Amino acid sequence: MRVVKRLDEWRALAEGLRRGGRTVGLVPTMGALHAGHRALIDAARRRGDAVVVTLFVNPRQFDDPADLARYPRTPAADLVLALEAGADLLVEPTAEAMWPRGDRSVTVSAGDLARRFEGRDRPGHFDGVASVVAKLFVVTGPCRAYFGEKDYQQLCVVRALAADLGFDVEVVGVPLQRDPDGLALSSRNARLSPTGRARALGLSRALAAAAAEVAPASALGERMRVVMEDAGVEVAYAEVVDPATLAPLDDAAAGPARALVAGVVEGVRLIDNGPVEVG
Ligand code: AMP
Repeated sequence: MRVVKRLDEWRALAEGLRRGGRTVGLVPTMGALHAGHRALIDAARRRGDAVVVTLFVNPRQFDDPADLARYPRTPAADLVLALEAGADLLVEPTAEAMWPRGDRSVTVSAGDLARRFEGRDRPGHFDGVASVVAKLFVVTGPCRAYFGEKDYQQLCVVRALAADLGFDVEVVGVPLQRDPDGLALSSRNARLSPTGRARALGLSRALAAAAAEVAPASALGERMRVVMEDAGVEVAYAEVVDPATLAPLDDAAAGPARALVAGVVEGVRLIDNGPVEVG
């Protein structure tokens, strides 16, 4: 596995992999790698891609400087995980290399999908995501790019970005990975105490409760909110939406839908989602 920091080396090595006849499988991450990230690398390897993992805590997608400062960083362990998972190239660019003009950089506007949920609660977040992902796509060049369903709204934004701006990138969604108790794996879980972790299970329990019944969208949303509140989660949202457009569903809607939940436990913002059936 090669490890590089410079954009010109990253660009040239990705180009070299393609010239050698491989499809490049891009796995963008913010580090603090865990089994969720590993699932993305495994998915790329299963398809035979040459795997390029990027590790960059993108300051432009944090609306809260304190959240950025607290974001977990485990570069030595990340190197080991990427190596063991069989990555071909690990890219760790500096903020100066990625954003030489800092806050004055050109920004990609993420569009309508970004206005609700995470976008409403974290102003500018998805513009920061769209901007950095656009840059990863440009420097990496034509590739398949693997994103987790853990960040379901982000996956929708990235699919729209690739389609709307015409990147030569196939976006692949990878199923959400959970701990055995149901908690969605997240780098942020490291910041929870044992009691906080137990409360955080309210999110996955809410989704399981909603998946266990077929009911109108608003009833499922209400059911999830109650389960989360009972568990001690400060609810940000609990809603059932169209799985492709994330548009709200009225109570006449029937069929497959997506439940999205977010909440705060011990000051840590957590998100989760899963498939449900409305009717
Ligand atoms: P992050 O480092 O949190 O920005 O995540 C990098 C990528 O890993 C994103 O595409 C995430 O959706 C994905 N990811 C993070 N956690 C999980 C998980 N529990 N299951 C599946 N994918 C995940």
